[in-house]
Amino acid sequence: MAEITTYSLHRIGVVRSKLKTRDEAPRQGWEGAPEAWLELNEVLAEGLQGLNAGQEIVLMTWLHQARRDLLKVHPRGDQNAPLAGVFATRSPDRPNPLGLHRVRILEIAGNRLRVGPLEALDGTPIVDIEAGASGVSRCLDARAFNSTGRRSRSRASRLHRGTTMDREVAFEGGCLCGAVRYRATAAPVRCVICHCSMCRKHSGAPALAFAHFPVESFTWVNGEPRRYRSSTYAERGFCSKCGSTLTMHEEILGDRVLVTVGSLDEPQRVRLDDHVWTKDQIPWIDINDQLPRFQQNSRRGRSMVTRLSSRASFLRRPPFPRP
Ligand SMILES: [Zn+2]
Ligand SMILES: [Zn+2]
Repeated sequence: MAEITTYSLHRIGVVRSKLKTRDEAPRQGWEGAPEAWLELNEVLAEGLQGLNAGQEIVLMTWLHQARRDLLKVHPRGDQNAPLAGVFATRSPDRPNPLGLHRVRILEIAGNRLRVGPLEALDGTPIVDIEAGASGVSRCLDARAFNSTGRRSRSRASRLHRGTTMDREVAFEGGCLCGAVRYRATAAPVRCVICHCSMCRKHSGAPALAFAHFPVESFTWVNGEPRRYRSSTYAERGFCSKCGSTLTMHEEILGDRVLVTVGSLDEPQRVRLDDHVWTKDQIPWIDINDQLPRFQQNSRRGRSMVTRLSSRASFLRRPPFPRP
């Protein structure tokens, strides 16, 4: 009996986007791609049951404008880069041009999903949708669509081009509604719970935890928080649409971006280093974690905290799955 070597895929829907040509498309969703609508065939709408706005999905598309006859390409469309075999790149041009896109659902309306950011072109056939992108190793960032050689000027692409990080994700997070999303490609340098009354007011929570990511590893992939100046030294960021508490901006900590641990998609992957402003702590909060505690965050306290936490985090940090 002859072995079957050809398989057929059925289009389950189509992408509706303002991106009409390959020239307009960024290489990766996070390089400034717009929102788009996924229109599913009406008879398949039942299959969307269980998906919710705010959730991340993996979208699989058929890159219908790709070339299937190429086996060597210039990585990332850079004509100066030496040719590489297509299987060693993320080029859309390949024998079976399947596109993998990690996107977030922003809205569900019947058989239509509004998602973002998505770099796929208008009219791109959809072949599959899967839930739960995080932790699924085969579903990394979207495969690049643009192979025209145009270089994106986005900060993200400058940071990541030519590194192995451009296809891997360390930490992602965002607000409740999905209007603001961020990504960090390095582990946090410090994680701290602050018990001060300002953090309490800002978040509405009894205490507020922050993860400090190195500024060079951090990118806003969708929107940015609106800022409120809460003191001479600091601003606090929140989503202007849904109000989620997202960031803290302190001038003396310009080398890092402080995001709320609660806004991370996988907060369980970070480990706390210490507590600060415990003099303001609500008495009934009883966290028995044996971590260093600081009455406040004075200059002296800060340097001490930094010293302690770098050592403590080195010793205690669990083997979270680094990409
Ligand atoms: Zn929001
Ligand atoms: Zn605070």
